[in-house]
Amino acid sequence: MPEQLTSSTPWERAQTEVDQGGPINDAERMVRLSGGEGSHRVTWALQGQTLLADCDCRGHRFNDGWCAHVASLWWQWVRGRIVVSHLHTGRDYPEPPAWLRFDPPSRPLDDLSPAELDAFLHCDVADAGVRPFARRTDRSPGTIGNLLASAREKLGGDL
Ligand SMILES: [Zn+2]
Repeated sequence: MPEQLTSSTPWERAQTEVDQGGPINDAERMVRLSGGEGSHRVTWALQGQTLLADCDCRGHRFNDGWCAHVASLWWQWVRGRIVVSHLHTGRDYPEPPAWLRFDPPSRPLDDLSPAELDAFLHCDVADAGVRPFARRTDRSPGTIGNLLASAREKLGGDL
């Protein structure tokens, strides 16, 4: 989270008010903070190597988009209270993944298949290790290795 914003009002609200909303679908949640202002529809999902965070409130235009509703979801996520889905790989994340970047380099990750993207994010970006990742996802290291090789080839090998 952006360091300079941790003492701002959206973060205060995120940490002190209860969210009485809930998920709408894999990509959106309704956020209803106990301090008022009603409900807001927030896009909140992983895509490529980054996080889609978009809120329909007016405050979302300020603070680089960290309105109280987006801040609340981040606060809930880092505390393990919500699970966030990756739109392409389908993997659910109970906490922010190590590969997450808010300002990702422009890599053509769209060219990767969901399985290639999944392996690339975990093994190459987050450096989780091929064998541990294979074990965790109940596949052979060879399968993961093939996915990584294919991903690297599509990405041009200049990582
Ligand atoms: Zn908002």
